[in-house]
Amino acid sequence: MTISVFDLFKIGIGPSSSHTVGPMIAARRFLYHLKRHAVFLHTEKVVIDLYGSLALTGKGHATGTAILMGLQGEQPHLIKANTVSDSLKQIIKSQKLDLLLEKEISFNRKQHLRFNYQSVLPEHPNGMSFTAYDAYGIVLKQRSYYSIGGGFVLSEDEMTLQAEKTEDKTSFQFSSAQELLSQCEYQHLSIAELVLKNENSHRPYQDTKQGILNIWQAMDECIQQGCHAEGLLPGGLNVERRAKKLHQRLNQTSSEDNLSLMDWVNLFALAVNEENAAGGRVVTAPTNGAAGVIPAVLAYYVRFVNPNQEITKEDGILTFMLTATAIGALFKENASISAAEVGCQGEVGVACSMAAAGLTAVLGGSNQQIENAAEIGMEHNLGLTCDPIKGLVQIPCIERNTMGAVQAINASRLAILGDGHHKVSLDQVIETMRQTGSDMQEKYKETSQGGLAVNVVEC
Ligand code: SF4
Repeated sequence: MTISVFDLFKIGIGPSSSHTVGPMIAARRFLYHLKRHAVFLHTEKVVIDLYGSLALTGKGHATGTAILMGLQGEQPHLIKANTVSDSLKQIIKSQKLDLLLEKEISFNRKQHLRFNYQSVLPEHPNGMSFTAYDAYGIVLKQRSYYSIGGGFVLSEDEMTLQAEKTEDKTSFQFSSAQELLSQCEYQHLSIAELVLKNENSHRPYQDTKQGILNIWQAMDECIQQGCHAEGLLPGGLNVERRAKKLHQRLNQTSSEDNLSLMDWVNLFALAVNEENAAGGRVVTAPTNGAAGVIPAVLAYYVRFVNPNQEITKEDGILTFMLTATAIGALFKENASISAAEVGCQGEVGVACSMAAAGLTAVLGGSNQQIENAAEIGMEHNLGLTCDPIKGLVQIPCIERNTMGAVQAINASRLAILGDGHHKVSLDQVIETMRQTGSDMQEKYKETSQGGLAVNVVEC
């Protein structure tokens, strides 16, 4: 298993990693596919078909907008979030798309961007296909892509090849938590140290370190941004941002309230997820919908946990992120981090588990305690459904991240109070999560056809 910290934590824009970040990447990749086959310059029309969950909740998740931005050459980690609205207006008004800013074609949003509500592509619930036509209406190329969660995108060929992945000889391989613990014990390494050795086999240490610190900086900036923004979130649900008022209140009140730390953790998660819902710059952690949990717990560590003399805050951030990466990789490989596949247990549940592990590591927990914390973090999220009202990543998503963050801290504390021995292993809970997701009715898997999405239709 060689999923990198930079696979799971990607700087991008909201509101969704699978429905916004992934489709933007797929759209751009399709154009480079056209270039490779020397048909890009002959393209006069592009038709996009969205299927399954991408169609059902695509409007609320701004999937269409993300695809149009991707076709104009934008990339999630570089796009300026505050330019998206104007670019979209320009496309609609001019009825033109500037492919990779190199070739202008006509574009009619209603005809060329199709939401296929009744159809699902066989390989994955988040499927989309792109078709390029020439001036005579002849198909030049057609290709399907799958947004498999956390901003990961696979083409139809890559979906097939996934099962034939070659082993990475330079890394410490582990495909289960048990193997991870055994490798660590055998090598006398902490989980973070083992993951770092894997990262070091791909790039110089300084690059990994700086990259992780950049990710933390993007998370922290997102918290700051969210703490200072106000007003209603877009999309028509009239959800008011709460972070700014809570921030002001916390700054004004004394810390006599024993639970004020919990308010701060709630604030950090609210701030990130309100930014995400507004289409701001966020980091997938491991997804956009769950983007607030890990930054909230890491911010709690950075700001409030008494410094341990043996570890600097910078090293603590690295340890936290590398440990969380190992746990996220286990979920991604052995279950899923896509709500369209397993519900919200795969997003907020996984984020909670990763954060619990990361915090336990920086608090000095043993590898067994870290595994225990990750297990507790998921055990109590089993069965969590995905039912966003109006397809927007707002209700229940924003508050749910506060729950995930507080739960992660509690899971970490429970694990640290123990000695690492426990009944349910992380591997068992991951497998249970996978089975629960597989048994879960489709309407609870990012379709907005069940749960709160149908019981709270007006807000
Ligand atoms: S309910 Fe959970 S998985 Fe679904 S959109 Fe909201 S945060 Fe994401």
